[in-house]
Amino acid sequence: MKKTLNILFATAEVTPFSKAGGLADVAGALPAALTKMDCNVTIITPLYASVDRIKYNLFTPEYSDHLQLGDEKYSFAFYRYKEEYVTTIFVANDYFYSRTGIYTTSDGEGYSDNNARYFFFQKAILAGIEKQLLTPDLLHVNDHHTSLLPWMLKNRKLKIPTLLTIHNSMYQGQFSEDDAQLLDTIDSDSLELNSLNKNSLDIGSQFSDAVNTVSKTYRDELVNIQKLSYGLHGTIQKIQNRFSGILNGADYEYWNPEKDEFIAEKYSVDSISKKQKNKHRLLEVIGLPLDIDKPLFGSISRQVESKGFFLILDIMEELIQLDCRFVFLGTGDVRIMGKLKSMAEKYPNHVAVVQEYNEPLAHQIEAGADMFLMPSEYEPCGLNQIYSLKYGTIPIVRKTGGLADTVIDWDGHSGNGFVFNEYNSTELLNGIKRALAVYSTKSWNTVIQNAMAADFSWDQSAKQYKYLYNTIITGGIHESA
Ligand code: ADP
Repeated sequence: MKKTLNILFATAEVTPFSKAGGLADVAGALPAALTKMDCNVTIITPLYASVDRIKYNLFTPEYSDHLQLGDEKYSFAFYRYKEEYVTTIFVANDYFYSRTGIYTTSDGEGYSDNNARYFFFQKAILAGIEKQLLTPDLLHVNDHHTSLLPWMLKNRKLKIPTLLTIHNSMYQGQFSEDDAQLLDTIDSDSLELNSLNKNSLDIGSQFSDAVNTVSKTYRDELVNIQKLSYGLHGTIQKIQNRFSGILNGADYEYWNPEKDEFIAEKYSVDSISKKQKNKHRLLEVIGLPLDIDKPLFGSISRQVESKGFFLILDIMEELIQLDCRFVFLGTGDVRIMGKLKSMAEKYPNHVAVVQEYNEPLAHQIEAGADMFLMPSEYEPCGLNQIYSLKYGTIPIVRKTGGLADTVIDWDGHSGNGFVFNEYNSTELLNGIKRALAVYSTKSWNTVIQNAMAADFSWDQSAKQYKYLYNTIITGGIHESA
C-alpha cells in the first residue's frame, strides 16, 4: 500500500495569508499540489497582523505555552486552519508578529529584531515537535527564517529528515554575537564546537539532509559563480552532491487570463484579440494616453538593483524616443524608486509608476501590457515571466537562473520571448529592439501563441519534490553520491 508522506512545511510567508515575494507564492501553491500526490502537508507560519482572524476563524488556540529567548520569556500559541487539503498552523505572538509589515517597516527598513523574531518562530516549531504536536516524516524549511531548524533538530538528536529550499541566496540571516545569546545553550555550544559562521542559511545548508533551489540554472550558477552566493560558495561547493534545482510552478487557478477576476476581459489563446481590451483598460487605470497601438512594457517587481532597473533606466529615454510606453509597479530601493518617479514626471505620456503593493494591478499589467521586462542580474526562478507567458505578454529577460529555464529566445520560427546574455544595457536594448521589430509583424501572434502554450504548472515540480522527499527519507542522499 502507498504510504502517505507527512510533510511539515515551515515558511515565513504564505499566500493568501501573507506575502512579501515569491516565497509566499510557492508556499501557497506547492503544498496544495503535493496533497494531490499522496502527501499530507501542514504549513507552519507566523500569525501576522495581515492575517484575517475573523475570516479564518482563528480565535481558539489549540496549544499555548511559553518560550525562553535570552533573558526574556514570551508566550506563543498555535492556531489551526484547515482547508480542504492543506492544514496551516499559525504561530502567534503579538509582540513579534503583529506588525504592519512582514519583514520591514512601511519605509522599507528591516525590523531590527528580525533575528529574534525568526529564532522565536523556529523555537516554537521545535517545541511543537518536542511535544509531539507535530510529527512529520520530513521537515521542509525555506530560506534563512527557518533554516536553523535542521541544525537545532540534530543538536537535540531528533531524527527527522530535512530539506532546505533556498529561494534566494542573497538573504542569509546573519546574526550577531548578541543575537546568538538568544539561542538555547545546546545550540550556542554547537556554534562554538563546530566553529560555525553566525549565518542561518550557511548553517541550514550544512545541516539539512538535502538542499535545493528553485531552478536548475540557478543551482548551477550558485555552484560555479562565486559572487552569486554572497559568501556561501565554500559551503555550496561542499554540499553540491546533495544540492539540486527544482523549478517553481505557477498557480494557474490564480494566474490565468481565462479565469482572472481582476482583469477587464478574460481571454484565451483562441481569443488573443481580447488582450487589446485589457490594454485599453490598463492604460486608463494607469493614466497613459489611450494609444492602443504603441508598445507597452510592464514591470512588476521589487525595485532593487539585482532586478536590472539601472539597465532599464539607462536606455529608457532612447526607447521613449521610439514612442514606447512603460508601467512600473513595485517598491524597493529609494534611489531606484526616485529615478523611476522622475521619469514618470518628465514623460507623463510615456511612463506610469505605481509604487505600492497592488495585487489587482499586477494582474491587469500581466493582461494588458505587450511585453514584460525582467533584465535581472540573477533570478533564482522568477515568477512574473512565467505568469507573463500565460498571459501572452512577451517576456524580455536576461539568460540567468529560472529566466533561462523558462523563456526561449524567438529565432524567427520558434520561441516564446526575447533573451539576452550579458548583464549590460546595450544587450538589453538589442533584445528590446529585436522584440520591437517583430511586434509590428504578423509573427507577433505566433510568439504570443507559443508563450501562452508554455506549461509551468505545479504538478511537474510537485512530483520532483515528492521524489526528493522520498529519496531523503530512505537515506538515498549521500555526501559522496
Ligand atoms: P522576488 O521573490 O525576487 O521578489 P519573484 O518574481 O519570484 O520575485 O516573485 C515576486 C512576486 O511578488 C510575484 O508574484 C509578483 O507579482 C509579486 N509582486 C512584487 N511586487 C509587487 C507589487 N508591488 N504589487 C503586487 N505584486 C507584486
